[in-house]
Amino acid sequence: MGSAGVLYDSEGTIYGAIETIRDITDRKMAEEDLKSARDRAESATKAKSKFLANMSHEIRTPMNAVIGMSDLLLQMDLKLEQRDYLETIRNSGNALLAIINDILDYSKIDGDKLELEILPFDLAGCIEVSMDLVAAKAAEKGLELTYFQDDAMPTILVGDEIRLRQILINLLGNAVKFTEKGEVVLFVGCSPVEGDKVKLHFAVKDTGIGISQENLGKLFQCFTQVDSSTTRYYGGTGLGLAISRKLVEMMGGEISVESTPGKGSTFYFTIMCDVSQQKRAATPDEHVLAGKSMLIVEGSESVQKMLSQAAMSWKMNVTKSAGGRRRQRFWRKRHMIL
Ligand code: ADP
Repeated sequence: MGSAGVLYDSEGTIYGAIETIRDITDRKMAEEDLKSARDRAESATKAKSKFLANMSHEIRTPMNAVIGMSDLLLQMDLKLEQRDYLETIRNSGNALLAIINDILDYSKIDGDKLELEILPFDLAGCIEVSMDLVAAKAAEKGLELTYFQDDAMPTILVGDEIRLRQILINLLGNAVKFTEKGEVVLFVGCSPVEGDKVKLHFAVKDTGIGISQENLGKLFQCFTQVDSSTTRYYGGTGLGLAISRKLVEMMGGEISVESTPGKGSTFYFTIMCDVSQQKRAATPDEHVLAGKSMLIVEGSESVQKMLSQAAMSWKMNVTKSAGGRRRQRFWRKRHMIL
């Protein structure tokens, strides 16, 4: 590459020319090198994602057999010691499976292979299953686990129930994991968008260890854990929030967090959903409960409020009393009917 110029005298006659030539072979070669390095890096990343996806799948299959067989064995007549060993195998299997699932999801996200299902689902059912899965751990730690929802919530929505559950379980699981005393509360609200579309708002609030301001910004990146000593103590892969963020974004929403160290954290997220015109089938319990009376004897105001909200949604007549002795409980509605 170069440039050329013609030289004129004062009468406009050409008396010479200047030509400059610059050798850009090195620059061109550097550009080529850069491009081929980028191509190699891209194909290595794709190969890595594919490898991870294959490996996760290969590991998951025998893990399911280990967990399934442990479950079957646990139904048999076993000595106390045998049961204890077997429960350890099953619990470790479940923990390992959760990690493998995270890696599988991460590799799908990394390779842009994650797809959402769009099917009708029962929102209350989805929330209840998520709460159920963390209830045992919360009860073990003596934490209150409660759930509130707006009065006018749609019942059947159209979207990916399993992925919504995955986000909820991750946030609720973290809240329980990082809270030693106090409570974990889930709030669910809804605002209309247009036509049959609604925006669902979720907030998972805990009274746990909290997160410092400097760490808040990096929370939703892959493999980010606040510090290595917490990781050693609490375990985890650091993938959960990155996966949740991706899922929330795929569902047209946003995720954010507010936290005060030593006081607790609140994770907020929204998703967009279509409301289905389908009506939710009433469960047999609901028919039996309508019109019956329920006395709620509960010291905790938030639990009292949650229970009466649930009972009223079943059309029951509720009387509340704060005179109860505090005891450990599961959040589940059915467990608490008096
Ligand atoms: P994991 O929990 O598997 O380590 P996550 O991506 O779900 O991975 O969380 C990343 C990190 O964010 C956690 O290791 C923890 O340091 C911090 N964190 C997440 N949720 C909470 C919470 N509710 N309270 C305090 N710290 C939290």
